[in-house]
Amino acid sequence: YKVIIGQGSCGIAAGAAKVEEAFKDQMAAKNLSIDLEKTGCIGTCYLEPIVDVVDPSGNKITYVNVDTGDVERIVDEHILGQKNITDLEMAAQDKEMIAKQKRVVLQNCGVIDPERIEDYLVVDGYKAAEKAINEMTPEEIIDTVKVAGLAGRGGAGFPTWFKWNEAHKAKGDVKYLVCNADEGDPGAFMDRSVLESDPHALIEGMIIAAKAIGAAQGVVYVRAEYPLAIKRLENAIGQAREKGYLGKNIFGSDFSFDLRIKAGAGAFVCGEETALIASLEGERGMPRLKPPFPAQKGYWAKPTNINNVETYANVPWIFRNSGETYGQLGNENSKGTKVFALTGKIKKGGLVEIPMGLTLRDVIYDIGGGIKNDKAFKAVQMGGPSGGCVPAELVDTVIDYPSITKTGAIMGSGGMVVMDETTCMVDMARFFLDFTRKESCGKCNYCRIGTMRMLEILTRITEGNGRDGDIELLEELCLKVKEGSMCGLGQTAPNPVLTTLRYFRNEYEDHIYRHK
Ligand code: SF4
Repeated sequence: YKVIIGQGSCGIAAGAAKVEEAFKDQMAAKNLSIDLEKTGCIGTCYLEPIVDVVDPSGNKITYVNVDTGDVERIVDEHILGQKNITDLEMAAQDKEMIAKQKRVVLQNCGVIDPERIEDYLVVDGYKAAEKAINEMTPEEIIDTVKVAGLAGRGGAGFPTWFKWNEAHKAKGDVKYLVCNADEGDPGAFMDRSVLESDPHALIEGMIIAAKAIGAAQGVVYVRAEYPLAIKRLENAIGQAREKGYLGKNIFGSDFSFDLRIKAGAGAFVCGEETALIASLEGERGMPRLKPPFPAQKGYWAKPTNINNVETYANVPWIFRNSGETYGQLGNENSKGTKVFALTGKIKKGGLVEIPMGLTLRDVIYDIGGGIKNDKAFKAVQMGGPSGGCVPAELVDTVIDYPSITKTGAIMGSGGMVVMDETTCMVDMARFFLDFTRKESCGKCNYCRIGTMRMLEILTRITEGNGRDGDIELLEELCLKVKEGSMCGLGQTAPNPVLTTLRYFRNEYEDHIYRHK
């Protein structure tokens, strides 16, 4: 028998490590030999700890919300007694939650052991990189990504092939490849989960990108608050080096590429690429003026390409299946899939990956199971503090870049915080603005001071001390902060206020005039 325990951060937080210990105790007490293995997060975080029991003929039964007290039953009844424990089994509708998704980036998450390269090789890992390194020119690689229609998944949705091509064309002997793993939106954990559950997919995607732009060195900039992700990525990099997939003359070619990890201190602004570069160079993480763009003058003033984890993690699948196949996923506006972190007042919180073109209703109701305690759905915050809320009446909005932007929100990196009828939308806007105000690097007056003034107004409104003219003042400040800020953080900071004013103005008015 084999027992596989989900041990992403969500599983461990729910007690998976203790469950593993309980299995070891049972094995010792009953003198049993069971293969105890680990895997990452399969996405159904609300069901953790999750334990798969695989019998000698390969049949797998998945038990959910397992606690240490259940382990003895699993050993006695299932492994020794050969009888499934139906009350612990994953329910059919939870299996459906996974089956309804299209898994490209998450295909190995919760399936393979992220700490064993052999598991990644069994699912054809590194074959795409080997082919790209030994059989494809940089132009062919870039063209494949162009045909796929992959857009940067960090938030802006910029065409990936275009960035790669700019860095490829830029003159210079030394070029760098950077991965932005500085995921900082409240409620977003897509990149962390990929790093913890399938780190080789990121490495393989970066190898292919390195060949495309001609980089010999790469850096993964991960926030230090992700210790498990860093540990598993470090382990994976070591294994890839041992196999000759990283380092000198990779895959027996004349191409060399190696990777290192830089742990960042967790400043939200370091998700902005020029601030990330400044931080990598040992300076304070503050954005720099663009142009020049990193593709021309990035890390140490050399041509540099930066994408986030999810973007690179799409790449191996594209090269295994072809750009055309990837391009067939999604709709006419946006290609491929998108990973979302579903949080807030949702029944089935976790990670989901869907083809572009489904609707918010599909994600929130069909996959996410609807609103907790069957309350009414009020809105969903998309794109974290840089994004905005989409109200219930727009639940049939199609998920692609232009359609989400039209609502005033943004696709962002994939955070979806679901709110029910009890959520005060002014409070919600205040929460996100408080976050961006704290994370402002202070370089621009409007971002530094404007967000502070906006927060003061929102605070007095939520405390029942709002004044006549506060809404108009807020609107004016929103526009000024947008226009007067240098980087994306300030330019998008007013979005939660603007969208709540657009869709829930009555709540602002109610706070201000209710007691007058
Ligand atoms: Fe810094 Fe804000 Fe200006 Fe960006 S907009 S550079 S975060 S002060």
